[in-house]
Amino acid sequence: MTDIKALLQSLGIKDVNPGACTGRWIESEGGKELTSFTPIDGSPIAKVVQADEAAYEQVVETAHEAFLTWRMMPAPKRGLIIRELGDALREHKEALGELVSLEMGKILSEGLGEVQEMIDMCDLAVGLSRQLFGLTMHSERARHRMYEQWHPLGIVGIITSFNFPVAVWAWNAAVAAVCGDTMVWKPSSSTPLTAIAVQHIVNEIMDRHGLTGVFNLVIGSGRVIGERMINDRRIPLVSFTGSIEMGRHVSEATARRLGRSILELGGNNGVIVMDDADQNLALRAILFAAAGTAGQRCTTLRRLFLQKGIAAQMTERLIKAYRSIPIGDPLDESTLMGPLVDEAAVQAYLGAIDLIKKQGGEILYGGKRIDRPGFYVEPTLVKAHPGMEIAREETFAPILYIFEIEDVEEAIALHNSVDQGLSSGIFTSNLYAAEKFLSHEGSDCGIANVNIGTSGAEIGGAFGGEKDTGGGREAGSDAWKAYMRRQTCTINWGHELPLAQGVHFDVEA
Ligand code: NAD
Repeated sequence: MTDIKALLQSLGIKDVNPGACTGRWIESEGGKELTSFTPIDGSPIAKVVQADEAAYEQVVETAHEAFLTWRMMPAPKRGLIIRELGDALREHKEALGELVSLEMGKILSEGLGEVQEMIDMCDLAVGLSRQLFGLTMHSERARHRMYEQWHPLGIVGIITSFNFPVAVWAWNAAVAAVCGDTMVWKPSSSTPLTAIAVQHIVNEIMDRHGLTGVFNLVIGSGRVIGERMINDRRIPLVSFTGSIEMGRHVSEATARRLGRSILELGGNNGVIVMDDADQNLALRAILFAAAGTAGQRCTTLRRLFLQKGIAAQMTERLIKAYRSIPIGDPLDESTLMGPLVDEAAVQAYLGAIDLIKKQGGEILYGGKRIDRPGFYVEPTLVKAHPGMEIAREETFAPILYIFEIEDVEEAIALHNSVDQGLSSGIFTSNLYAAEKFLSHEGSDCGIANVNIGTSGAEIGGAFGGEKDTGGGREAGSDAWKAYMRRQTCTINWGHELPLAQGVHFDVEA
């Protein structure tokens, strides 16, 4: 049994916590109280006083001032500070991972995995701090040198979703910090305590270096604090992770002021299993991707395309496996599926089940709420047909639609026929099918895997999706470029002034 009081204490969380911080905690006199509940049984954990207008102003002002000095620290030195952050996260991994499970409801091994992702992100950023490369170009003009360089951008607004309450912050924060940016984080109102715990860990590191205002926190509703951030011209970049509906709004608001956004939005991810696939491999991958995190990952597997020859057998095996998924308290080590995040999520699940029946889907397994305190539902398998509108939407719950397909061509067409484009996979031992899936006429997603499910991306690759998923990329490859501004520089070290494109403009002077 977890001693919740001791856990919270070890992470600096009190019964009532201030919701704004620049390194120093700010009391918001006009801020409304927000209670954080655990989805494990719906009981309250602790309270936060949300940031009021004055606190928000103080945070953004401090972030701006801090930027002016932070950007002048050499990037490798900033990297050393991120290395310390990674070490501190290693020390707090158990406690923070447990708090993620308690507040968000994912199972403990996934809570710990999420903190590991933060650590991996710090490691990546440390290396990156010595690799913020620009290119050199050959000038067409004699004795001219041309190159590009990357400068820090300013304040990065980080707005995060509830389902990865700490990892998504790290994807952005570790990279933004080594790039020389400061940042303001607005976490989801469902998971404010994990954010407060992270801020305490960060404060400890920054205190050692006498720094404030690099990593900042403002807790408040999307309608109030979120709106302020996306419309704030002092924040040149907003990195937003959340639903497509909100992402569209964030994109419009930032574009209106010609600001930039990184959008990491919803998915409707598919896996194709061909007749020649290793069925055992596919089955294990499908189970984790579809039922893991109770279907609350952006990369959760929602649509399964089974080739005719194996469809009946795979479906049978899936039903059998679904029956044996241990559901319950996510902090209990034997549990593989925890609760949904809140009552609204349960209602969205039940609403989707209704629509599935109305639209001619057949519930093969599940479809019901589980009768116990908290927000537990049955993982659900649906025999689906391509005309079902509900299968085109992302219902943030463990519902898997199963389609039967003739061949890889039909599977890819059906797979690509939805608006979202995040993660995808194919299980096959056939070279043609695998390469076809990865080709220009294959999967249209940002992530495409062979003999791997849709969930559980590694740090190092650029993460993100196409179409309504928003086009953003984070966490690896050259994603860092979004956090900096590019400058092209041309230096004339000769005594002539030739103009580009051979233009003459000679005046006696
Ligand atoms: P959500 O859209 O409800 O909320 C996301 C964030 O937006 C929260 O912090 C919320 O407070 C904030 N917000 C709300 N109104 C706002 C406004 N007017 N202005 C600015 N911010 C506002 O999403 P959620 O339910 O927390 O998360 C689940 C969704 O996130 C799913 O669709 C999931 O697929 C997506 N997601 C995507 C990725 C990815 O990398 N593609 C990763 C995780 C989650």
